[in-house]
Amino acid sequence: MNEETKKVQCPFCGGGCFEKRQIEYLYSYEDKYLLVPNTPVDICMECGMIYYDAAVLEEIERRFFAIHQNDEEPDRYVQLPIAAYA
Ligand SMILES: [Zn+2]
Repeated sequence: MNEETKKVQCPFCGGGCFEKRQIEYLYSYEDKYLLVPNTPVDICMECGMIYYDAAVLEEIERRFFAIHQNDEEPDRYVQLPIAAYA
């Protein structure tokens, strides 16, 4: 196991090698969407499963509902820059 990447095992394949990346995460709820660029994730190098940090997901969800409370008909993708996470 490589201690430098992450000290967890992939529950999917049992691999222990992860890589940190930033991806575009598409959050969807009912028929509304929020596209979040630069979402930090861990990707299993063995099987390619993507793991999201729970705190990151909570923040995306919080922003999603904040946006959609002010924006009634977002049948388009809303882009938000994320600068708070690195
Ligand atoms: Zn895996």
